[in-house]
Amino acid sequence: MKRKVVISLLLCGMLMASSAEAQKIKFGRYFEDATLRIKYQRVGSKKSDTIRMVQQDRIGQWSGSLTQLIDPFNNGFFRIVVQDAQTGRRLYSRGYNSLFAEYRDTPTGADSVAAFEEVVRVPWPKVPVNISWEELGSDHRYHTQYTLYCDPLQLMEQLLKRSAISVSLDPIRLHYKGDVHRKIDVVIVPEGYGPADTAKMRTDMERFCTYLLQQEPFASRRNDFNVWGVALTGEESGITNPGKGLYVKSLVGASFNTFGADRYMMTMKLFQLHDAIGSTPCDHIIIMANSDTYGGGGIYNFYAMSSLNKMAYMVLPHELGHSIGGLADEYVDEDLSYGETHSKSFEPMEPNITSLVEFGMKWESMLPPGTPVPTPENASVPRTENGPLGVYEGAGYQSKGLFRPAQHCMMRDYAPFCPVCAKRLNAVFDLYTK
Ligand SMILES: [Zn+2]
Repeated sequence: MKRKVVISLLLCGMLMASSAEAQKIKFGRYFEDATLRIKYQRVGSKKSDTIRMVQQDRIGQWSGSLTQLIDPFNNGFFRIVVQDAQTGRRLYSRGYNSLFAEYRDTPTGADSVAAFEEVVRVPWPKVPVNISWEELGSDHRYHTQYTLYCDPLQLMEQLLKRSAISVSLDPIRLHYKGDVHRKIDVVIVPEGYGPADTAKMRTDMERFCTYLLQQEPFASRRNDFNVWGVALTGEESGITNPGKGLYVKSLVGASFNTFGADRYMMTMKLFQLHDAIGSTPCDHIIIMANSDTYGGGGIYNFYAMSSLNKMAYMVLPHELGHSIGGLADEYVDEDLSYGETHSKSFEPMEPNITSLVEFGMKWESMLPPGTPVPTPENASVPRTENGPLGVYEGAGYQSKGLFRPAQHCMMRDYAPFCPVCAKRLNAVFDLYTK
């Protein structure tokens, strides 16, 4: 009996905490309509991970929502959390991944320490706040790694002393549908364009804007997007490709052959990338790489990149599945499966793959009655409104023990996004627009 009371008290406490969290935070009470951009380094390996602060800046308007400040998705190896320093109340949070999280799972990252640039953007606080960097632990909970105390008046004084309030060039409005607080603002950053390439750059940006908006569920939500272009060039044309001995002085330092994979094109120069974006309204970043070679990459709430190869109209939506939706790859590639990339003994955090350990957290409720779990490849499954849905083995690079929602999907083989992926993308879009 006593035990029962304790449990119900605990439950009551949990409910109170969650309803307090759900109470709307009044943006104007805690934040100004401006962006605090924080540059830092993440230094470490599989064995360690340390945050080193580099620089804070005040840039442009806040482009995110004024009403949805707490991240509802438990997705991302990392999370940034802003709390009122006086009361501890959580005011803003966002999950994200980074290139470091991939590096530490490579053979080199097992014990060799490397430094990675990272940048986060949060709304500019009106009151003193604690900004915390959290990391997902092996217990599948977020733990605080580093906390930055930020008094906005003191910070403003420091910025005025170093005259660091920057003014950027006017961005190009490629697709403008209104108030940045109610739209998903995507910035296209041109990479690998030299001073003589400005006309081509403009045409390519229009093309990329079309690729961004033409696939479902993006197409139905096109009025929820603003797409901006940054009109900057680097010193030289082309993209660095160490495999071919090609090194280019480009705008944001992108390169093929990231972690030894030919087609994996990423940049380590996050500070340059964010300097190029400046005060352009920015919820998500696309790096458009001036190369005909097949390649790209995408990391959740970090950036997406694609070359101009003839497959770009498919590569770009796939990479946006990672960078905006936080979706996992649904294909099998044992070479990419470094050890515990996706452990099979617990549920991976991405919504579109499951180890069946806690399938109820995933798309179980979307399955039509009678669907076999797992679903054999040749089983006939009832069609759902948004296409066939099952639980197929082979996902997250691994052929066994991980399952995906459909035979085909943008995250597997460039087919249309499966119902589970489309649902999550729509839920993420709502976070910026509703
Ligand atoms: Zn999918």
